[in-house]
Amino acid sequence: MIMDGKFGKFGGIFVPELLIPALEELESAFLRYRDDRGFVSDLEYYLKEYAGRPTGLYHARNLSEKLGCRVYLKREDMLHTGAHKINNTIGQALLAGYMGKERLIAETGAGQHGIATAAAGALLGMEVDVYMGTEDVERQKLNVLRMEVSGARVIPVDSGSRTLKDAINQAMRDWISTVENTHYLIGSTMGPHPYPTMVKHFQSVIGREAREQILELEGELPDTVIACVGGGSNAMGIFSAFIDDDVELIGAEGGGHGIESGNHGATLSAGSEGILHGSLSYVLQDGDGQISEAHSVSAGLDYPGVGPEHSHLMETGRARYEPILDDEALRGFKLLSKYEGIIPALESAHAIACLEKYAAKPENKGKTVIVNLSGRGDKDMSIVAGLMGVAP
Ligand SMILES: *Cc1c(COP(=O)(O)O)cnc(C)c1O
Repeated sequence: MIMDGKFGKFGGIFVPELLIPALEELESAFLRYRDDRGFVSDLEYYLKEYAGRPTGLYHARNLSEKLGCRVYLKREDMLHTGAHKINNTIGQALLAGYMGKERLIAETGAGQHGIATAAAGALLGMEVDVYMGTEDVERQKLNVLRMEVSGARVIPVDSGSRTLKDAINQAMRDWISTVENTHYLIGSTMGPHPYPTMVKHFQSVIGREAREQILELEGELPDTVIACVGGGSNAMGIFSAFIDDDVELIGAEGGGHGIESGNHGATLSAGSEGILHGSLSYVLQDGDGQISEAHSVSAGLDYPGVGPEHSHLMETGRARYEPILDDEALRGFKLLSKYEGIIPALESAHAIACLEKYAAKPENKGKTVIVNLSGRGDKDMSIVAGLMGVAP
């Protein structure tokens, strides 16, 4: 390995020896093509013409007036497949093609990453296999169909808790024996090096655009940037452009039913150091190091780990992280929908709820805030209908 993949003490590589050559090959290709003219121009082409970049930075006037801050929304919800995930799947699928791989594998919980991977595979003519726990396959039938009509094969995983955790183990096992022609496409700033660095790189287009746009619109940098944090990729993508500046960075975690309830996904706010999925970071675990089940109303924040760079940003005090309760997220969902006619993904609604709490503090009145609107809410309407007691 050329880099150690560490963020302070977090990150690194904690995987079976058999996977090291695959990670070495991937790191070397990433470093080789990241700034290669041909690769960069192909990536820019697909992000623009296929995914719909650049996304707007929308001054949400109604919400600004209501909350007493100058609120800008980075509109990742406008992208093809409905969220920022496509930035990463196109980037990695393209890189895999440059490496001569013909097949992509992925794991998915609720299905959003599987859908974005299936789209990238169809776009670039690659075979796609998506591992998914049988429990999740059952719960997310329409998402399974979306992947299948896009040409992907969904492989149900019936071991363990039959959810994401088990799907990840299967994907790793697959990759060990197929690395010759297969790329393992991880969906967030998670996993062993080089994934956290590589996924941040492919998502950093969000921050680069937002920075240029706010300078154009306001003539200065924002006071604060807020993003929701599941594995942490949309947040790292936007934070990355402001890390060296005097800009406050806030991550909104899935607070579920509250940290006291034990029923939440607030890994940074309530977790502790541990190794999960190949790197050292904060994880939700019990006293014996057993990984806990996470809970959040939004599937994308319902995960017991978090990307290692966020652990580092928290420990150094460069960013802070707030758990947002399910109820608060639902309020955020309704607030943005009602005031702006923009229905956010439940994940993104956590960032809106975090903004609402931020704006309620007297010292924050009049501040300029960018909220990363990571995705749109169409996928969540039946959940919201259930929570509101309306028959879908
Ligand atoms: C998957 C998802 C997330 C969480 O993933 P990160 O890697 O933390 O960005 C957030 N928002 C939306 C809309 C998602 O689909």
